[in-house]
Amino acid sequence: MNGRPPELDAFLRRIGDGIVFGQVWIQSAVDGFLLRQEQDRARAIAELRDVPAQSLRLLAQYNAAGQFRPLRSSPDLQSGWVHRAANPAALYDALQLLYPGSLADWFAGQQTEPPVTSFADFASRQSGIYRSVGALSAGLVERVTRACCDPTVCLKRRLWRAGELPSDVAESKSLIPCLEPCAILLELSRRATKFDRETLLHVGVGGEELSTLRAALEAVRDRPEARGRQADFNDPLNPRRILWCLSRLPAAPGADDAEESG
Ligand code: SF4
Repeated sequence: MNGRPPELDAFLRRIGDGIVFGQVWIQSAVDGFLLRQEQDRARAIAELRDVPAQSLRLLAQYNAAGQFRPLRSSPDLQSGWVHRAANPAALYDALQLLYPGSLADWFAGQQTEPPVTSFADFASRQSGIYRSVGALSAGLVERVTRACCDPTVCLKRRLWRAGELPSDVAESKSLIPCLEPCAILLELSRRATKFDRETLLHVGVGGEELSTLRAALEAVRDRPEARGRQADFNDPLNPRRILWCLSRLPAAPGADDAEESG
């Protein structure tokens, strides 16, 4: 017995020549472990800013544009830094600060039957203003999940099922599993019941105008600095609202022809 949490022992065995966890590249070093943003993997350590353990929490709280990251699994962890963890316990602490609870979830996700909570069970536990999410149709749960858990906004690999949607594969996201719906998904579910009751406006736009609308939404989706606050669903530029709207747009007439001729 070494007194280490079992998830840490299992993770140490997986590190090998290096491993990406979330967006962090972790390597064994002579004097412990080196952690840095995956994008900085090829950069010399001397070029990176040393970040001590006490600064990791702040580093993980905000992206490079200074926006708060309500989910640490959002794919906008800052780059340009290195953290030196002196031993396995320090590595564990660093990962807890960067991705709270994720090492234990990763370990639980290795089980033959991971302990996941379905949307239905999650919804049945809600009360107050969230009680209504239990009444969402299967189709609406799928649409909410697609928008909320898209890889452009969350890197956790969803293991719980949402209707007919298959669970995520690690290659499309990361090693960190999502074992149950999160608070952001709960809020989007509540909003979705409202969106669904809204009177539809029949906006008269032509095919080319529709293409422009789609391109504008995709441009915001793909530029984190252009997006609104991640946890504020009143913000029309909220990234999940953008994804929701994209999913609602019909294909522009002739889009298939354009793709074929392009
Ligand atoms: S529910 Fe979706 S958005 Fe929330 S942590 Fe899980 S995968 Fe990410």
